[in-house]
Amino acid sequence: MLILARTTMKIVILCIALALPTIHAIDRHRRQVVSNGNETRLRKGTVIPYYIVGYEKLRNHSLGRELINNVQNAFKTLERLTCLSFVDKSQEIFPRKLLIFYAQRFILIEYSKKPVHCSATLGRRRRDHTVITVSEKCYKDQLTIIHEILHVLGIIHIQMRKDRDHYIYVNEGALTEDTKSSFEIVPDAKTFGVPYNPGSVMHYVPKPLMRKSDVFIGSIQSVTKNSFSNNRLTFTDIKLINLAYQCHAKCSQEDIERCSNHHGIPDSRNCATCHCPDAFQGPTCTDRAELKVNNQVCGATLQATEDWTTLSKSFDTSGACAWHIKSPMGTLLEIEVKNIQTTPTNTKHSKKCTTCEHFCMNGYLEIQNNADIQIAGLRFCCNKDITESIITDKNILPIIASFSKPFGFELQYRYIID
Ligand SMILES: [Zn+2]
Repeated sequence: MLILARTTMKIVILCIALALPTIHAIDRHRRQVVSNGNETRLRKGTVIPYYIVGYEKLRNHSLGRELINNVQNAFKTLERLTCLSFVDKSQEIFPRKLLIFYAQRFILIEYSKKPVHCSATLGRRRRDHTVITVSEKCYKDQLTIIHEILHVLGIIHIQMRKDRDHYIYVNEGALTEDTKSSFEIVPDAKTFGVPYNPGSVMHYVPKPLMRKSDVFIGSIQSVTKNSFSNNRLTFTDIKLINLAYQCHAKCSQEDIERCSNHHGIPDSRNCATCHCPDAFQGPTCTDRAELKVNNQVCGATLQATEDWTTLSKSFDTSGACAWHIKSPMGTLLEIEVKNIQTTPTNTKHSKKCTTCEHFCMNGYLEIQNNADIQIAGLRFCCNKDITESIITDKNILPIIASFSKPFGFELQYRYIID
């Protein structure tokens, strides 16, 4: 069994549970390794092995088995959505010398008993291991593990992109020595044309309770605080990995063009289908996404009229639904959100806001009125978020409800002639 000495981990990104405020640190000498060319990506076209250090010990207790399960499922999720393949080598026994040799090609997963942040090395490393450290703070959350895997695949935090100041405001004065490096812009980071998405699993969230001393990420433009709720792997995350690893090379130009509606990309595991923004699916990314509640497809395609029509739904379990509201060409769609019913969580962060969850942790209604459908839209977590009506010139307006706890909403819609 190989236990990595902490001194071998020179490029480390620290992360804790994504829905909470985060404190990260990145080695400053290697910050530029950001989806940034061949030298920073892990090898493509080959199976990437990973090795859970202490596998035999871990699987002897329930927490360890949960960790193994979550790690394996995180790799399976990324395998399904990209052209990358991963293989679990944890059960193979290597002579120590051989393991050290091969470990340079492995992603090592190590469990830390210290309740510290989760961490990961960044990108491909020529002379050292890639390591993901998971602790009690984060191994239960599969999204956090995926976040860390994306780091070893070469992806940095979105708020370090050079265009971030167009979208968010960072309170530089509140940054500490520990947090500074996580907010330093990386000017040469490649974005592959993927838009800035505050909803990305790789974006920090603002602190739940703003204080003067907080490292506050405020929003500029149409981004609202709720847009930051990174409670799922987004289309832009999937697209970024696929483009960085040139997964589309497996598909034809015809496939690429066919999927390009709404900025979709071909699914490299089946080029006849596409990866599409959340509310869409199908071979041309124009069908309504068949999102499910209790394994039943829900949502509908609705035609607006000049009279108000009410759409009201209530769910007693987790799931997601998509609606497309259509209006005639040349008209404007008007939407009024009337009511949001959410399930409060009694955590230390939500005590002061029990009826309005920060970052829509338990559910949200999203009206995708952004010009770029890839970016998180206007999200409503609770009635405090309701403002005036929304008027859009989109003739197909996607609406998504996504929830992990009981959730309900009521809205009304109509079209108006400009
Ligand atoms: Zn991170």
